Amino acid sequence: MIDDDKPHEECGVFGAWNVTDAAAITALGLHALQHRGQEATGIVTHDGVRFHSHKGLGLVGDNYSDAKTMAGLPGTRAIGHNRYATTGETVLRNVQPLFAEFEFGGFAVGHNGNLTNAHTLRKALTRRGCLFQSTMDSEVFVHLIAISLYASVVDRLIDAIKQVIGAYSLVALTENQLIGVRDPLGVRPLILGRVHGADGNAGWILASETCALDIVGADFIRDVEPGEIVLIDDTGVRSIKPFAPQSPRFCVFEYIYFARPDSVMEGTSVYNARKLIGAQLAKEAPAEADVIVPVPDSGVPAAMGFAEASGIAFELGIIRNHYVGRTFIEPTDQIRHLGVRLKHSANRAILEGKRVVLVDDSIVRGTTSQKIVEMVRAAGAAEVHMRIAGPPTAYSCFYGIDTPERSKLLAARNSIEEMAKLIGVDSLAFISIDGLYRALGKPGRDPKKPAFCDACFTGDYPIALTDHIEPRDEQLTLLAELS
Ligand code: AMP
Repeated sequence: MIDDDKPHEECGVFGAWNVTDAAAITALGLHALQHRGQEATGIVTHDGVRFHSHKGLGLVGDNYSDAKTMAGLPGTRAIGHNRYATTGETVLRNVQPLFAEFEFGGFAVGHNGNLTNAHTLRKALTRRGCLFQSTMDSEVFVHLIAISLYASVVDRLIDAIKQVIGAYSLVALTENQLIGVRDPLGVRPLILGRVHGADGNAGWILASETCALDIVGADFIRDVEPGEIVLIDDTGVRSIKPFAPQSPRFCVFEYIYFARPDSVMEGTSVYNARKLIGAQLAKEAPAEADVIVPVPDSGVPAAMGFAEASGIAFELGIIRNHYVGRTFIEPTDQIRHLGVRLKHSANRAILEGKRVVLVDDSIVRGTTSQKIVEMVRAAGAAEVHMRIAGPPTAYSCFYGIDTPERSKLLAARNSIEEMAKLIGVDSLAFISIDGLYRALGKPGRDPKKPAFCDACFTGDYPIALTDHIEPRDEQLTLLAELS
């Protein structure tokens, strides 16, 4: 078991090839992906001769608004990254994209996801003499590429990704290509888009979500496939699939909470998915009530679906202050408590004397729900029922969504009745796992071949948790080989 107090990468990535003012386009793309990471951001460009980079703490808007920074990022090729880390220090050396000079030239890489054997690999690589500059999982890619005995960048990259275990969507930039990679199960998203290119031919975009294409006026081409490497250069897009095909396991929590509602993931609109989840929840766990009130913003589409299906009025009984970040990003419990109060306030005109159904997407620690319920009761609600548009979050995510350790998850320690009591509601219900799958267009959850990664709800982890359990045989062999 390793110390888990380290940065968890839960991030947004963007890449541009043959695009006029690639840095500005990347900054716009990162701005649309701001919800995927607010702690730090970076852009690396290539101007045809050399690389340029800017990394900074904080929001996209605080980093790329001055002309001097942008003038320092010339070129028609770029990659960018937004970082979201809730534990460990956020210092510049932990900000991506990472950049390294290899014998074949410069290489920049940005990563969304989490590697589950990073610790094991890091130990082996350090023993071998690799000097790590950061505490990020993603740095193992750089060292594995550096020590690979293959000649070409692409062969070295394939060599590297065959040794890592975990969830990863990567964008990388070399002197002559933009590269996108998705892990074999496609846990984290990555999409390909096209724009009018700087030289009149096609320009290409890679991004975590389609909302980043919309902001730069790019056309959606397709999702990068699970296990696929896309190689983009002036001759177009090439695809390599170095892994044997497996049944994909896209992260179901992207639909429930993480992605922006105007994005389309794996062919499904996130907004529509959330409404359908809300409708299914209303069918499974109806409540006698006067108003359906979302916990904004993430609960809004599910509450709309719930209201439509139940025929009960949808009302904004909680108002969100948009000038504070997500509660989760503040690191201490004390601040987190304070954050909830900063973020939401009760709309007494809607709540007084009413039987209220609160709809939210998830209960993690339970802090948000407790505060919201207290607030809604203080505003005079007669009854408070809570409906959650995801099954109980009873297991931690090791694949790139930040969830606290299991002991801090309310659903890991309590039954639904106990949770209802702790949160202070008259009733509490969660959508069932089969209901969730149905809302997403599947017949239900096939336990032999689930269509999604739903480990946070089921504890069924589709990718080995090498760092968190006993090292697997092949890891031991690798360790022996490397040390
Ligand atoms: P908690 O107070 O810990 O129960 O947090 C639950 C709230 O946090 C819900 O309203 C969710 O919308 C939101 N949430 C759930 N998962 C995450 C996450 N990984 N990052 C940020 N916020 C989250």
